[in-house]
Amino acid sequence: MPNNEIKKTDIPQVLEISDVVGEGKEQKSFFFKQSLQCRPGQFIMVWIPGLDEKPMAVSYWSRNEFAFTSKAIGKFTNALEKLKKGDKVGIRGPYGSSFSIKSNACVVGGGVGMASVSTLIDVLKNPIVINGARSKEYLIYLDRFKSKKMIVATDDGSFGRKGFVTQVLNGVLTENKKIKMVYTCGQEIMMKKVLGVCNRHNVECEASLERYMACGFGICGKCMINDKLCCVDGPIFNSKQLMSMPDFGNFAMLKSGRKVTIEEYHKIH
Ligand SMILES: Cc1cc2nc3c(=O)[nH]c(=O)nc-3n(C[C@H](O)[C@H](O)[C@H](O)COP(=O)(O)OP(=O)(O)OC[C@H]3O[C@@H](n4cnc5c(N)ncnc54)[C@H](O)[C@@H]3O)c2cc1C
Repeated sequence: MPNNEIKKTDIPQVLEISDVVGEGKEQKSFFFKQSLQCRPGQFIMVWIPGLDEKPMAVSYWSRNEFAFTSKAIGKFTNALEKLKKGDKVGIRGPYGSSFSIKSNACVVGGGVGMASVSTLIDVLKNPIVINGARSKEYLIYLDRFKSKKMIVATDDGSFGRKGFVTQVLNGVLTENKKIKMVYTCGQEIMMKKVLGVCNRHNVECEASLERYMACGFGICGKCMINDKLCCVDGPIFNSKQLMSMPDFGNFAMLKSGRKVTIEEYHKIH
């Protein structure tokens, strides 16, 4: 075992950023020359001392290197955006459940949600990838996955097919009866629609939920969705679990613990 290997740690390890790569508008990947023991879909907690600590999916993984890809949307992610090669952050984890690895799969990523399914795409055998974003500049990993069967869609038609990833998925499942599993990550409203399409086609689905999260290991209860905790029971949930959660795609908890509609949750900060 190399002596710089993080197996799993609850104590943040201070790591130097070895590279920063721009992926799309407001989205960057932060690389670390460090080996991390993790499975597709798991996440790490990233700590900027004095500011905050937030969950990020492991978006690149190889034996001696890993990365996460962040979209600048608020206080923490805007601070991340300014970090450069050589700067340091604290990393703990990895945490959470992982995707099952099935053949005959389709992967649906919306915007930076592609980060949570990217290491899964790396290991799946010939998946169909649906990579969507609201417009061309927000698309990520186009070069990275150019050797895959990838269908690109934008809401405004500025690149690839015009329309929502759910419309593309419906077409894929109608034409391709061999697909047995759909994996997804993106805005929760999108994932709820993805689950609806899968149910209509009788295809299993696994979704990675990105709820507000504070501790990452099941103590604080901030990421609760019905009787489940996103951090330890998830973040990956299957069709049966998702259908047993009335809050999925409908309600979420704010930092304060107040429950609001998903629309309000995304507007509130
Ligand atoms: C398991 C997991 C994996 C994640 N992986 C990634 C990743 O790979 N890349 C990435 O960019 N982000 C990821 N996120 C989301 C990321 O943690 C949040 O976007 C981040 O915490 C926002 O912090 P902020 O201070 O910049 O923004 P804030 O000021 O806290 O929030 C800005 C806006 O984003 C919304 N928001 C905040 N947290 C979340 C959340 N968890 N999900 C959806 N909307 C949220 C708020 O409602 C608000 O509208 C992940 C979240 C989880 C739970």
